Parts: sequence; C-alpha cells; structure tokens
Amino acid sequence: MKGSGTRFDPVCDMDVTSRDVTYKSDYKGRTYYFCSYECMKRFQDNPEKYTGFREKEAKV
Ligand SMILES: [Zn+2]
Repeated sequence: MKGSGTRFDPVCDMDVTSRDVTYKSDYKGRTYYFCSYECMKRFQDNPEKYTGFREKEAKV
C-alpha cells in the first residue's frame, strides 16, 4: 500500500498516479484509472474480470 495519491491500473497492474491520469472509468461507484486508452477499453469491455483480479490472483 502506498499513498492515497497512487492508483492501480487494474488491467495491466501498473501504478497510475492521480496527476498522470488521463483515462478513467467509473464502475459500481468506484473510479478506476488506466495508463492508456487500450487498458480503459479492455476494462469497459469486461469490468468484472478486472475488478475481481486481486482475489483471483491470490489463488493462482
Ligand atoms: Zn494499463
């Protein structure tokens, strides 16, 4: 866990700081940030896949 200014791109698991964010998407009341338009598109295509990634990752 880092400072509150740090966000994760849930698609590629990259750090995305709030000041660098150009691409973001709201899903179920939360805001997700992305490093690129491609990542944002992928997320919007299948948001549940990416919002649950932490739980799945722990099991793998
Ligand atoms: Zn990304």
